[in-house]
Amino acid sequence: LTGAEPVEDHQITVCVRKRPLNKKEISKKEVDVISVPTKDQMIVHEPKNKVDLTKYLENQKFRFDYAFDDTCTNEIVYKYTAKPLVQTIFEGGMATCFAYGQTGSGKTHTMGGDFQGKTQDCKKGVYAMAARDVFAYLKSPKYKPLNLIVSASFFEIYSGKVFDLLADKAKLRVLEDGKQQVQIVGLTEKVVDSVDEVLKLIQSGNQARTSGQTSANSNSSRSHAVFQIIVRSPGMHRVHGKFSLIDLAGNERGADTSSANRQTRMEGAEINKSLLALKECIRALGMKGNHLPFRASKLTQVLRDSFIGDKSRTCMIAMISPAMSSCEHSLNTLRYADRVKEL
Ligand code: ADP
Ligand code: MG
Repeated sequence: LTGAEPVEDHQITVCVRKRPLNKKEISKKEVDVISVPTKDQMIVHEPKNKVDLTKYLENQKFRFDYAFDDTCTNEIVYKYTAKPLVQTIFEGGMATCFAYGQTGSGKTHTMGGDFQGKTQDCKKGVYAMAARDVFAYLKSPKYKPLNLIVSASFFEIYSGKVFDLLADKAKLRVLEDGKQQVQIVGLTEKVVDSVDEVLKLIQSGNQARTSGQTSANSNSSRSHAVFQIIVRSPGMHRVHGKFSLIDLAGNERGADTSSANRQTRMEGAEINKSLLALKECIRALGMKGNHLPFRASKLTQVLRDSFIGDKSRTCMIAMISPAMSSCEHSLNTLRYADRVKEL
């Protein structure tokens, strides 16, 4: 990818990222079935059986704006995905960046960084890198005279309900006024003056998100986390631009609709609904005057203003686990990403 500069005029960018096989997968002698032959292609080598039961690999090829292989760092992924969207919010637009994929595919690693309890852990994630660049823009000669104010929010959507990750997971109500403005009532929005302050917010939000859960049945795989950087004009405090960075629920959870557990089943249905609505809303981005399924899910409802207007831009990073045992999920992820944007 070195050399090629990010394409900056896309309203919708769809990328895929393959993570390396991890230690556990290697010890289980898992086979890597994903290849990235060019900077915009990903191939799944799906194992199949012939009628005589001999095995063969069926290659399924997909094309995207960018395909990142397992040697790409978060910094490189960021450069081609969220980084070009920082400008959007300074120009008065709405930007969104989604991490999509099955549980364990690298969504949180990409967005939040590998959080182990220390503030520095999140520095290498897309949230932190976006915040860093927002402050760089803020201080630049072009935007400094605007005296914009930067603030941040961090919330979680779990089973169709909104919880404030910066206020002990307080449950919040979502209201829609007559002008179809959506508001999360009482959501914490902290004014921030430096990257370090943002890192502390990300850290405490991450901590709140993962507290009280076991890794075996983690709530975070069933919830969408939304981190927002808001820039407001001084005095009136009108929103000038907003950047929403979203670590989506594991897409395999959307298939939990036949679970024996009623709660799990309902959560699965909710996740499925929100991911379908999300796809439709992104696809319709920029088209005017049609009815979008914003209200079909809490996720799309609270992100409503990000899907309208010529200045809105969005980016999806679909995460891929390389192991053969994840083949089916990987194909589902690639097909979804493919449909978000028909190239
Ligand atoms: P998800 O949030 O999609 O469930 P995680 O981000 O938690 O998945 O990733 C699962 C594990 O894989 C974590 O231990 C993470 O550190 C590791 N991992 C994910 N992506 C990468 C990568 N690109 N390089 C190295 N390790 C990764
Ligand atoms: Mg995660």
